[in-house]
Parts: sequence; C-alpha cells; structure tokens
Amino acid sequence: MSDVEKVVVLGSGCAGYTAAIYTARATLSPLLISGTMEGGQLSLTSEIENYPGFPEGLGGMELMDQMKKQAIRFGARFVNDYIKKVDLTKHPFTLWGQENEIKAETLIVCTGASAKKLGIEGEEKFFGRGVSTCATCDGFFYKEKEVVVVGGGDSAMEEGTFLTKFASKVTIIHRRDKLRASKIMQQRAFDNPKVAFQYNSIVLDVLGDEKTGVRGARVKDSKTDEVTEIPCTGLFLAIGHVPNTDIFKGQLGMDENGFIVTDRLQACSVPGVFAGGDVQDHVFKQAITAAGTGCAAAMSAEKFLTKMESEGYPRR
Ligand code: NAP
Repeated sequence: MSDVEKVVVLGSGCAGYTAAIYTARATLSPLLISGTMEGGQLSLTSEIENYPGFPEGLGGMELMDQMKKQAIRFGARFVNDYIKKVDLTKHPFTLWGQENEIKAETLIVCTGASAKKLGIEGEEKFFGRGVSTCATCDGFFYKEKEVVVVGGGDSAMEEGTFLTKFASKVTIIHRRDKLRASKIMQQRAFDNPKVAFQYNSIVLDVLGDEKTGVRGARVKDSKTDEVTEIPCTGLFLAIGHVPNTDIFKGQLGMDENGFIVTDRLQACSVPGVFAGGDVQDHVFKQAITAAGTGCAAAMSAEKFLTKMESEGYPRR
C-alpha cells in the first residue's frame, strides 16, 4: 500500500468493480476494499439474464469474478477489509479498517444497500431457494406458480405486478390496511387480475422442506389473531432497502432514507468523494445501472485528481 492512495474504492459489487476497472485503466492503480460480502448483492443471485452482452445469461458470482479479473488485469489492487470509520473532514481522507489505516486522495463509495429481511423462521434457510429479495432476478423461476410478495410500498407493487408475467397468482401481504405505495403503482396492481391483496397480515414463518422447497407462508391476521397458511412456492421480500452508509453519517450529504446524495457527476457533498451503485440509488437498483454509475464516479475521480494536481485541493 502507498502512504497516500490516489483512489480508494469501497465495495466489491458491480459499481465498485467497475470503478476499479476504469480507474485502473486510467493508470491510477486503485485500491479496492472488499467489505464483508465480496461480490455484493449479485453474488446472491443465481442467474442474471438481463446484463447486456450475455444472451444466455450467467451466474451472479461468475459476473462478479469476471469483473474482478478485469480490474486486476489493469492494475487494481484488492484488500479484504471492512472500513469501520472514516474522516472526510481533512484531505487526504483517512479510513480505518479492521486491519489497515488508509489515506486517500479520492474516495469512491460503492458500499451498496442491503435488502431488509423479516427475521422470521425459514427466511434464511430458503434464501435463494424460494425466498428472494429480487423479483427481476428470480421471477422467471416461478412460471405458473403461486407466489407471495411482502410489503406495501412501491417496490411491493412493482415486484408484484412484474411477477404476474410468470406466476399464476401473486398475493401481496401487507402489515396494515393501507398501502404506502403511490396511487399510480397501487392502481396498476389493483387492475391486474392475477394480483390479490391480504391486509393486516404479518408473516410468521416460511414453510417447506429442504427437498421440495417452499410450500407456503404462515400468516397472522393482526386484527383477529387468526393464523392461516398461504400456499406459495416463492416468497419475495419487498420491505425496503437499507443503504450501507452508517460510517458516513454526519460527513456526507444523504437523503431522509440514508442514501448518499450525488450530483450528475456522481460527486458527493465532500470534494474528492464520489459514489456509485445502490448506495446512492433507490430507484433502479440494477446491475447495469450500478456499473454505469460506478464508471461515472471513476471518471469524475480521475478528473478531480488531474485538477487537484494542477490547482491544489479545492477549498471548502
Ligand atoms: P418503502 O416505501 O419503505 O416501503 C416498505 C414497505 O414494506 C412498507 O409498506 C412497510 O410497511 C413494509 N415493511 C417495512 N418493514 C416491514 C416489516 N418488518 N414487516 C412487514 N412489512 C414491512 O420501500 P420501497 O417500496 O422499497 O420503496 C423505497 C423507495 O423507492 C420509495 O421512495 C419508493 O417510492 C421508491 N420506489 C419507486 C419505484 C418507482 O417509482 N417505480 C419503485 C420502487 C421503489 P408500512 O407501510 O406499514 O410501513
């Protein structure tokens, strides 16, 4: 490691690897810190069918491995560490990991977001094999099957409506009697004859066995306390995402949900800090958009360094 790194990329998902490829090709020798889940959310996805350039589809982990190899080919360096504290008030920035203390001229934040889970029995056991947090990724596997979507926001409406392309029936289970989703998204779901709603309902556990997979969800009516079983072979969680931004609180501008705010150049509120991928995107949340914003963040970091070398670090 150098005394002061030119570029540090935080996160090893689609956005982070793309940022590493671009900054490595710009001969900046970026240092990528992997975080706790190498490969990010895509490493949990069995098959990706909508990443352009792969007409036959490919595994999530496979795509991540290819991106990593591509970044290494151009000179990116990788460190397995998890950053627990940052100081962005002074330049160069300081990052503290479990093992290392790192100084950086520019920082590209690609720490992603984590899908919220219910924390109920069966959820982990069937995760990736009946329980999913991504209808776009896994919907195809439920052709003519009955599925359940948990949540009452825009994501639940969108995922529920999307799943009707494949599933024979989609039941949206919401914990209250009023949806949180926007009217237009609600209406789209109401108008779809394959979508059913179950309100005031709390999912207690996911039922099934190792061999045959998920067979249903056990649900409690919060008004009557009656417990019923809803048959389904897939259970999709759409109860929101939490951006992985805890270490930046109070240092980088964020929206009310904790997503990092970036401008058109992927620049954050602190000069020299850029962000890409799901950590700054609660709308698209796709591999290709994460790669796109990771690329843009890298190109902006490169421009920042060029300017800094000729004019000095921008004063705030
Ligand atoms: P969200 O708006 O926060 O909605 C999450 C939903 O999950 C809420 O209905 C909430 O119930 C429910 N929920 C949360 N925790 C739960 C738990 N532990 N058990 C059961 N239910 C739980 O999240 P989102 O739908 O992912 O949307 C996030 C943002 O992205 C929003 O700003 C949304 O507008 C935007 N978005 C936009 C689009 C679009 O425009 N195409 C698509 C997707 C998302 P309560 O209502 O009771 O709190």
